[in-house]
Amino acid sequence: MKVVLDHVGIAVNDLAASLAFYRDVLGLEVEAPEEVASQHVRAHFIPLGDERLPGAPGVRLELLEATSPESPIATYLGKRGPGLHHITLRVDDIRSAVDRLKARGLRMIDDEPRPGAEGSMIAFVHPAATHGVLVELMEPRAATSESRVGSVRAQAASQVTRYTVGDVELVSVSDGFIRFDGGAMFGVVPKPLWSNKAPADERNRITLAMRPLVVRGARTMIIDAGLGDKEDEKFHDRYGVDRRSSLDHALAEAGLSPEDIDIVLASHLHFDHAGGFTVRDAQGRVKPRFPRAQYIVRRGEWEDAMHPNARNHASYLARNYAPLADAGVLQLVDEDQVIMPGVRVVRTGGHTAHHQMVLIESGGRTAAFVADMMPMTAHLADAWIMGFDLHPLDTLAVKQRFVRDAVERGVLVFFEHDPDLVAGYIREQDGKRFVEPAQGRASTEPS
Ligand SMILES: [Zn+2]
Ligand SMILES: [Zn+2]
Repeated sequence: MKVVLDHVGIAVNDLAASLAFYRDVLGLEVEAPEEVASQHVRAHFIPLGDERLPGAPGVRLELLEATSPESPIATYLGKRGPGLHHITLRVDDIRSAVDRLKARGLRMIDDEPRPGAEGSMIAFVHPAATHGVLVELMEPRAATSESRVGSVRAQAASQVTRYTVGDVELVSVSDGFIRFDGGAMFGVVPKPLWSNKAPADERNRITLAMRPLVVRGARTMIIDAGLGDKEDEKFHDRYGVDRRSSLDHALAEAGLSPEDIDIVLASHLHFDHAGGFTVRDAQGRVKPRFPRAQYIVRRGEWEDAMHPNARNHASYLARNYAPLADAGVLQLVDEDQVIMPGVRVVRTGGHTAHHQMVLIESGGRTAAFVADMMPMTAHLADAWIMGFDLHPLDTLAVKQRFVRDAVERGVLVFFEHDPDLVAGYIREQDGKRFVEPAQGRASTEPS
């Protein structure tokens, strides 16, 4: 078990006075405070690491302020006064660390790991077991080992990640990032819970990736195509669009050009999925982006998108898909069916009435591109359903069925909007569900 010091927590009575020491006298830089509303705590982190050491995440101090009398920090200050509160040790695998401590009869405050700040999982060990120091164990987000954090993060930052399922190659490509309202992304889930997994910006927006999937088998297909480049500056500001690295770059990095695509398959026609279906030509006319491709759309989704209502019209922009019909490249499908060998579409409904996922089955293995049924790993839990969904109870039912099946069969699941994780396996251990990151290959590695 590898253990690294992450930070030292100090309970303070008077924040201004403590800053006078740490910031003004020692000259340290204090990060913007982070509110942990559920704990009634405000945390001020102070990096102490040596930035000249590459790849060594720095040790930090954490000044802890109580924001209400119910706060555990208020209780601590009442009993002991200000001072050293806890130390936090980073571990590779918090579940096995907790099990190991419990197996030795050591007393825990948290018997099970629970979500902490920045999407981490944490568990406090009782000071009785640690010779008087409150110890917090912490595993950073989306990780089963520390080396994996590094490589999974690097993958998320890179444009292209490759996976193999039987005879089919799956190439995850990125069209950059977009921001949506955090509340709308998590429906009935309270902000103190979702903001742990997906921190909000000053406009309450969270960051989503836009990650279409190229399927290379009997033919070359792309599922969804991101936002595209037809939107103006006002739109980009409203949705915090970051396409400095877009689908064009990603396809090039993957060794593909738009001419290589035979089939474009739509999960649904919302602008963050279908925007890249069309481009403006030099005369300003909108035309299909992939010149040789047939575009496959579910008929019910097409009809809803062509006749939007007051509830869904902001998500449907006709310029993204209406020109496909004019160009004669549109193919509407009515039923669940095989689109090419090993690739079939399955209607999920829920998010929109005719939203569909894509199953890739080859050599006895299955991958699933679930699109907005489960856009991020944070949507794994049953009740974590988008407020955007038109039929949330349908999402609930189809997600429960899918997750059960994915656990049983070891399905490789692609999370189109997750900013940190391209794909993973849903696992269940002691009744708890989590996503184990799947290691893909970088664009340059051979298959
Ligand atoms: Zn959508
Ligand atoms: Zn979406």
